[in-house]
Amino acid sequence: MSDEKRDKVGLGGLSRRNMFGISSTLATAALAGVAASAQQRPNTRKAEGDRSASNPGPENKALLNENPNSNMPPSTDHGDVGAIWFSFDLTHKRIQEGGWTHQVTQRELPSSKDIAGVNMRITAGSFRELHWHTADEWSIMLDGNARVTVLNPDGTIFIDDVGKGDLWYFPAGFPHSIQGLGPDGCEFLLVFNEGLFSEDNTFLLSEWMAHTPGSVLSKNFGLDKTALAKLPTDSMYIFPADLPKSLEQDKKAVGGQSVRSPIQYTFKMSSMAPTKRTAGGDVRIVDSHNFPASQNIAAAMVTVKPGGMREMHWHPNASEWQYYMAGKGRMTVFMPVGSARTQDFNANDVGFVPAVSGHYIENTGNTDLVFLEMFKAHEFMDVSLNNWIRHLPPEMVTSHLGLDATAIKSIPAEKMLVIAGS
Ligand code: MN
Ligand code: MN
Repeated sequence: MSDEKRDKVGLGGLSRRNMFGISSTLATAALAGVAASAQQRPNTRKAEGDRSASNPGPENKALLNENPNSNMPPSTDHGDVGAIWFSFDLTHKRIQEGGWTHQVTQRELPSSKDIAGVNMRITAGSFRELHWHTADEWSIMLDGNARVTVLNPDGTIFIDDVGKGDLWYFPAGFPHSIQGLGPDGCEFLLVFNEGLFSEDNTFLLSEWMAHTPGSVLSKNFGLDKTALAKLPTDSMYIFPADLPKSLEQDKKAVGGQSVRSPIQYTFKMSSMAPTKRTAGGDVRIVDSHNFPASQNIAAAMVTVKPGGMREMHWHPNASEWQYYMAGKGRMTVFMPVGSARTQDFNANDVGFVPAVSGHYIENTGNTDLVFLEMFKAHEFMDVSLNNWIRHLPPEMVTSHLGLDATAIKSIPAEKMLVIAGS
């Protein structure tokens, strides 16, 4: 029987053989024993056997096909956990000559009060204009290359080139720039530690110029009016420009070694060895411990092989904002009182887990599921259900879950993060 079918007859929670770490043969045997007591599981949906769930009216087939669990949830789902899904592909794109931007913030996903995300494209040579803002900025390059700069308040400056899989981190209020490089610019994801952050509400150099009296600009720069004739009079935001010189030439041009930032604001996540690798996939954790600039945002990039699962867990220190990079998955979020919501996630979707809420993410596709777990936190922290169960006196576990000593011992004691399908 497929997991999906078991879910539909109300055995979903008991049949997750992966969770118990036993073979499918054993699982089948266990299921036979469990079937007799299936009526004891709550929320068994007898209605699925008749016409109750049929839908003779209009349907959006494309959405239904992409989101089977969201529409027809496992019978263990119950109550309301709030919004846990949105997609960048439903949002308005702000397109300008040189690229585009769109965002999923607290406005689109009201549960996410700690984190907002922006997805941006910049063509070769084009700039995301010099600017700064109230939130910290974490970014991962999704495609292509860019040159970034950020100024420290002490006058030292950081310049670097980033490629696919690389990160950058700009603290709140620190002025920075992003320029697309060859051959085809770049696309990246930005993550901000403010739910109501908006890319349309940043401090732009052009707008400051446009809204300062000319005499003040003259006095500030020590330049006469003729020299200032070409200053922008309106917002630039994203605009085309020529490709920059080499990184070495740019580093020299800004003053060389004497003004070099002592802080490294980029991180090569692409070449980082996994923090944890199992038969089910791997996890790369990047937070202030290995990327010291990243003081207020912690990240994990998770790869789950087909059939595998990010194990049942929760995060004691923050809510979780997710970005799905590839593949297909489903997540159930559990909250009091007895509430659970299952939804499907596809590439370019955003997921959300309220602080300390229990969840798993299962690969439901035929290819690797890759997603980011993002936290407004100094460090990545999670609690594994298996790890907890295995570090309790076995009698305590038997009293709570009815598992015998042999079954308990077959549960992984180590925190696996990602569990393989059998
Ligand atoms: Mn920025
Ligand atoms: Mn998580």
